[in-house]
Amino acid sequence: MLPFEKAFEIVLNSARPLGIERVALAQAVNRILAEDVKSDTDMPPFNKSAMDGFACRREDLASELTIIETIPAGVPPKNVIGQNQCAKIMTGATVPQGADCVIMVEFTENPTENTVRFTGKETAGNICVKAEDIKAGQTVLSKGTLIKPQHIAVLASVGCAQPVVSKRPRVAVLATGDELVEPASKPGPSQIRNSNGFQLAAQVESVGAVTKNYGIVRDTRQAIDSAVKTAVAENDVVLISGGVSMGDFDFVPDILKQNGIELLFEKIAIKPGKPTVFGVSESVFCFGMPGHPVSGFVMCELLVKPFLYKLMGNDFTPREIKVPLGTSISRKKKGRPYWIPVVITNEGTAEPVEYHGSAHFNALCGADGLLCIPKGTGELEERTMVSIRHI
Ligand code: AMP
Ligand code: MG
Repeated sequence: MLPFEKAFEIVLNSARPLGIERVALAQAVNRILAEDVKSDTDMPPFNKSAMDGFACRREDLASELTIIETIPAGVPPKNVIGQNQCAKIMTGATVPQGADCVIMVEFTENPTENTVRFTGKETAGNICVKAEDIKAGQTVLSKGTLIKPQHIAVLASVGCAQPVVSKRPRVAVLATGDELVEPASKPGPSQIRNSNGFQLAAQVESVGAVTKNYGIVRDTRQAIDSAVKTAVAENDVVLISGGVSMGDFDFVPDILKQNGIELLFEKIAIKPGKPTVFGVSESVFCFGMPGHPVSGFVMCELLVKPFLYKLMGNDFTPREIKVPLGTSISRKKKGRPYWIPVVITNEGTAEPVEYHGSAHFNALCGADGLLCIPKGTGELEERTMVSIRHI
């Protein structure tokens, strides 16, 4: 069976860029930058007061200072500060020439209306120096960056009002299964609700892809074939939940092949998530996702999300932290790497949550992350340092 690392490589190497577009800054969060962004200005663009106070010369701090002007934010100073002079200055205003510090208003007293005296012992400069954060012409954000709210501030500050970003993959989500009803319905005998379709769609949305939920597809060749044809025609990526295992009604791999999708693998040596299928054609990428909800969740985290990021030109690195195990873990079969849900305790250790197997989807709700017990390892002792992958 294909090792996970190999499957990962196959999937990521298949990614082709989807093109780029300009978006308004307000729509840019969670998108991936498609070109480097340079600053058109120094930041700060001028020596800027960090405080409300008085701009003056350090050497005059012991003297009574004459206030020669008031400088609001947004208005250039009119005067140069000379000996025993100062300007009343607001936070964000330009520090006048001649001054090398701003004394905070909290540390001053006014002996007269036009003078001020420093009452502190010493003072910080309280000046944000021109260009100390960003120099004009400097590349501030690189192609491939995932735009978070803090990046939006940088883009705004350097005048990038319409960043060029990668197009969002259009991702179809289909849930196969004769036992399924939609969440709004009460399941009848032997039925369960379609949770996978919504879980997968939510995972995919979280990376900034656009999902289209095609709902439940019955376990017949004809129903799957027709749903696959529609989904393939309308999307860049198709995720099909269920129907990829060894059951009599698991038709998905066959139907993908019949629709011109070349299957690059049909199983991965991993637990949970063994029956994971990946196929490509010239126009689309298809994942057959395991039906068990935890398996589908884990494979979406490990395989689909990094792939979607790659389609958008981002080299996704999962957030992982290294912590000691709070308890020992053992398992009997050790032929495949085994991912289990864990919590990070207040003591900073990792502990498995109660977990009954890959159908136990609500176990994930109490988990902070996933821990991988490597292939060949049956026992992890308490205090072993482990990497926890954030979910
Ligand atoms: P399958 O891969 O189709 O054999 O399904 C494996 C298991 O996952 C079965 O117990 C299914 O009932 C369950 N399952 C399949 N699809 C879904 C779904 N959309 N939502 C919740 N559970 C599902
Ligand atoms: Mg099924």
